[in-house]
Formats: sequence, C-alpha cells, structure tokens
Amino acid sequence: MFSCWLSRLCGGLSTPTGRVTHLIQGSLSRRLMLSSQRRIPELNSFVARTNTCGELRSSHLGQEVTLCGWIQYRRQNIFLVLRDFHGLVQVVIPQDESAASVKKILCEAPMESVVQVSGTVISRPPGQENPKMPTGEIEIKVKSAQLLNTCKKLPFEIKDFVKKTEALRLQYRYLDLRSFQMQYNLRLRSRMVMKMREYLCNLHGFVDIETPTLFKRTPGGAKEFVIPSREPGKFYCLPQSPQQFKQLLMVGGLDRYFQVARCYRDEGSRPDRQPEFTQIDIEMSFVDQIGIQSLIEGLLQYSWPSDKDPVVVPFPSMTFAEALASYGTDKPDTRFGMKIVDISDVFRNTKVGFLQDALSKPQGTVKAICISEGAKYLKRKDIESLRKLAADHFNQEVLPVFPKANRNWNSPVAKSIMEEQRSELIRLMEIQEDGVVLLTAGEHRKACSVLGKLRLECADLLEARGLVLRDPALFSFLWVVDFPLFLPKEENPGELESAHHPFTAPHPSDIHLLHTEPKQVRSQHYDLVLNGNEIGGGSIRIHDAELQRYILATLLKEDVKLLSHLLQALDFGAPPHGGIALGLDRLICLVTGAPSIRDVIAFPKSFRGHDLMSNAPDSLPPEELKPYHIQVSWPADSEAEKSSLNQPYHPES
Ligand code: ASP
Repeated sequence: MFSCWLSRLCGGLSTPTGRVTHLIQGSLSRRLMLSSQRRIPELNSFVARTNTCGELRSSHLGQEVTLCGWIQYRRQNIFLVLRDFHGLVQVVIPQDESAASVKKILCEAPMESVVQVSGTVISRPPGQENPKMPTGEIEIKVKSAQLLNTCKKLPFEIKDFVKKTEALRLQYRYLDLRSFQMQYNLRLRSRMVMKMREYLCNLHGFVDIETPTLFKRTPGGAKEFVIPSREPGKFYCLPQSPQQFKQLLMVGGLDRYFQVARCYRDEGSRPDRQPEFTQIDIEMSFVDQIGIQSLIEGLLQYSWPSDKDPVVVPFPSMTFAEALASYGTDKPDTRFGMKIVDISDVFRNTKVGFLQDALSKPQGTVKAICISEGAKYLKRKDIESLRKLAADHFNQEVLPVFPKANRNWNSPVAKSIMEEQRSELIRLMEIQEDGVVLLTAGEHRKACSVLGKLRLECADLLEARGLVLRDPALFSFLWVVDFPLFLPKEENPGELESAHHPFTAPHPSDIHLLHTEPKQVRSQHYDLVLNGNEIGGGSIRIHDAELQRYILATLLKEDVKLLSHLLQALDFGAPPHGGIALGLDRLICLVTGAPSIRDVIAFPKSFRGHDLMSNAPDSLPPEELKPYHIQVSWPADSEAEKSSLNQPYHPES
C-alpha cells in the first residue's frame, strides 16, 4: 500500500507527459511547460526539518539530516519508523550509555507522538534492506531527538488497513487525514486545481473572481440554505451556484471568468452529493457550445494526473434522446454495452397479453436489454431481485427470456413466444449462447428508465461474480447534448420546469416552437459525463431580456421581480455568453477511485448533513436568536432535543 501510494504521489509530481504539448500552442505555453517541467516543489523551506521522511535514498548516504514526524512503529526499542506525508523512514535508536536521554525519548514516547530527530543517513546492514519501502535501503543513525508533543490513546490506529466506521473517521477527521489515502486524495486534488488555474489564467487569460456567498433566493432549481439577518423577516440565501453573478460579470465586460466556487444546496447528502460542494465555475462571452466543450477538454487534458491513462480528446457526444433510448439515462456509462433495444416490431402480432396491451397504446413500446453470459453468471434469485426492483421502484413488469439457453425459469411469456419471434429477437439483439434478455413494455421514457437502471444493476451483479465489464483504469468521457429546454414538473406534470436552469438558451433550430410547443424545444445545454457520472453541466445563455422574461414569466410561471436585476442587466448591452461548471468533488472522487466524495473533501458533512467533529448544525439559546427576530417552533416530539441545548454532544453512529 505504502510504496504504491508514494509512487503515485511522486508520479503526480513528475513532469507533464508529451501529449500535453500537443494541446498548447504559442511561445507563452511553451515557456510555461518548460518551467513547470523543471520546477520541483521545495518541501523543506522555512521549517525545522532538512528533509522529508519519504525522500531519503542511498544518494543521501552520509548526509546529516533533521526530520520531523509521527512515530508509526517501534520495534524492540531498537528501531522506530517515523512518518510524514511523504512516507516512512527507519530510525535506529542509539543503545550506548552516552545517548541514554535520546533513547529514553524515543522509547517512551507513545505511538503517534510527534518527534524531531537529527542524525546521519546510513546504509542498512546487508540483508536488512526492505525493497517494499522506497526508503528501504537506508536508515537514520540518530544523534539527538526532541519530543515535540505526545499522543494520548487514539480512537483508531493511523494505519490505512485498519477498518473504522465512517462516523468515527469523521468525528476524528484530523486523525483520519493522517492516512496515506487521504493525504494522496487531497494532494492530488490540490495539484489538479493548480493545473486548472494555470491552464485557465496563464494559458487562456481567464480572470479568477470571487462572488458573494450571502445572496438571495433564486427562482427554480435546488433548495437553498437560508441565513437570517438582523432585519426583521429578511433572509439571505447561500448560492446554489454563482450562476447569476457569472452572467452579470459578462455584462460587466469580464469576459473570461472562472472561480473555484463553493456552492450550497439544502438537499441532504447522497454518496455523490454534499450540502456544500465545490465547482470549477466558468463563463465566457462570444462563445458557442463547441468553444466551451473544447475549452473543457483541454482543461481536463492539461490538469489530468500524469500517472493515469491520458485523456483522449475530443470527447464523444450523444444527444439526450439517444442517451435515453440506448442507456435509459442522461448520464450513460459507456464503458460497457448491454444497450437498450426497441423490440416493438418483433411483437406486433404477439399473443402475450401485457405486450399486446402496451403496444395497443399510442406511446406503447416493447424494449429489452441482453445480458451476455447472464445464464452462466446470474442466479435465479438475481433475476428475481431485478424484477422486484423494477416493480417496486418503477411499477414496471420485467420478464426474463432465455432465447438460446434452455432454461426459462417459468418465465410465463417465454412459453408464448413463437419460434419466429425468438429467432428475430436473437438476430436483432445479437444474442449469444447464455444470453439473457430482460424485457419490458410501456411508454418509451418509462421503459427506457427501468432498463437503464437494470443495466447498471446487472453490471454490478456480473462484476460481483468476477466478470470485468468496466475497466477500472478507463476514463470514459461523454458529452450529452440537445437536452429538452423544459421538463414536466415532477410534482405537477401539467407545469413546466427548466431541464437545466431558466437562463439556458433554446436551440436555434427550435425557437419557433417556443410559443406553440414549448415541450418540443431543445436547448443549448450540455452535460459532461464520466463513467456514468455527471461531472459537469452548462449552457449557452439567453442574453435577450425579452426572451428571458417570456420564459420566466409565461412558461415557467416564476416571479420575475426576484430577477429584475438580471433582466435589467440583459437590457444594457449584454454580450452573447455561455459557460459550464465542473463538480470538482465528484471529478476528484472518480480520478482517485475513492468510494465516496467525502473521501476527497477535507472536512465533509455526514450523510445526514452534520459535521460530526464539531457538531454543526448546533442549537442556539433563545437570547442569541433574538437579534434575528427568530423563535424556534419546536415540533411536538422534540422535547429531548430542546433539553439537549447545552448538553454534551454525542455524534451520529
Ligand atoms: N450554474 C450551473 C450549475 O450549477 C452550471 C452552468 O450552467 O454553468 O449547474
């Protein structure tokens, strides 16, 4: 674990690869490339050490060094292994009388105490080298030592292989951060952001501008956090993104904006969501969709860690309609096949009741996916759980068919499938021996959604059985384009809501439909998908105040007064503009292969949105709420919570 972490870290610090050179043109770019190739960060400036624990090699033999670090192991009071962010190094505890005080410090300090040692780099005796350790050829012959601070009994050992619950890790986050994995994740994140800044500001003239965190409610979109103010009944909101500000910056002539922007959405945590998260937020004037896409492809290529497979550009592109039809989602994982196929025509003359029924409806379809080798790897109970998932979450019936394998597991439909339908199915879906077809019927979008979900479930099941469908080293980027401008509101399908946000411009070829058939209008919205995860989204914006007013007031039925500042700004010579935001946490999570975005954020919130270390959000006594003209109206069953005001804190388990 350790050596692989270190080589990844050092790999990441190494020079950019040749592929990057293609991307950048002009002498400025070349100068920057050369200087960044030469620059090796100085890790020991301004501090009490001469070297990091992880950097010492045979080339340092004979050097007098001073190291600072945490005690990782001690062996028989003879050796001590010292750790810092850079790695581990073995220290020889002196045994002679004259060094008794050094020995006492190094032998008595508890594990994870922080010490400073000074001594000479020497070779390990022949046969005692440790090839698994990058510093395994040398050790430090200590002359002096200082205990900088001791460590009490820890809630968990600082060793990556020691299992601990996430709640405990979050409660003692400062200890969890000492792990090599967290060090790797956060340092890789920092390096990637640095490269992004370099690409945007130094190579492409972007301006890094901070926008306010205290803002007001934005119509549509995500739920916002509300912040009380001292004015009675007045509240700020935390921005769900700097969307309005970045557009206003374009009106202000700052025509290439970017920001590493903190955004807030009061929507509860999910494995890939946090109430506060970070975007690489970008806006440009006088740009079109292709311009933004090329910028992002170059940005990712330039900032991509050099120890990963290089990013290949341009990224492929797929329309929203195609993504839905073939993958049942707007964020397809294109690393594997198992695409959805429309098999309605095969069943036009079917005797099977529920298929007949579906096809008799105007929007009715029959769709299927084929799980190659499904009959070999999936068990009957797997198929049953897939069918249950479809029934419970989508209210959809799904039937398994084994067109070639002689195993129909009582699939009622199988018996009613005629021979020519079976052979047509095999031909259309290119079914091999052991292929299992999952078939559903109904309205296009619903049938695709359920099969899209089952496709991913099947991939998980097959991989759990040892088949490799998705190469973990592969990064599969995809642009999804031509989204609809509006979707029916979930809670009230008679009304419309923006598919992206209300500032997104309609597709130029569909503008004529805006007044007559708004649901048919496509937009200039594009999403970036990586391995089936949405890692970015943006659009070309509306810069015409009249059109913006019409969409807000007439089609979306929003209160335009809330956006009067923006509408006014559009009227004062707003340039055409567009932009995008990349979800930095999700991107880094995918790059590092971390199981959750919480693993790439230094101090994340728990699944329920709490800071388990400091106990935020916390209660405030009534007198502290008074200046805000706020009173808590306690729910009936919250007596316990009320009395917990000022009580000691117990973290979530
Ligand atoms: N502000 C948008 C978002 O957060 C991104 C954009 O349209 O640029 O999704």
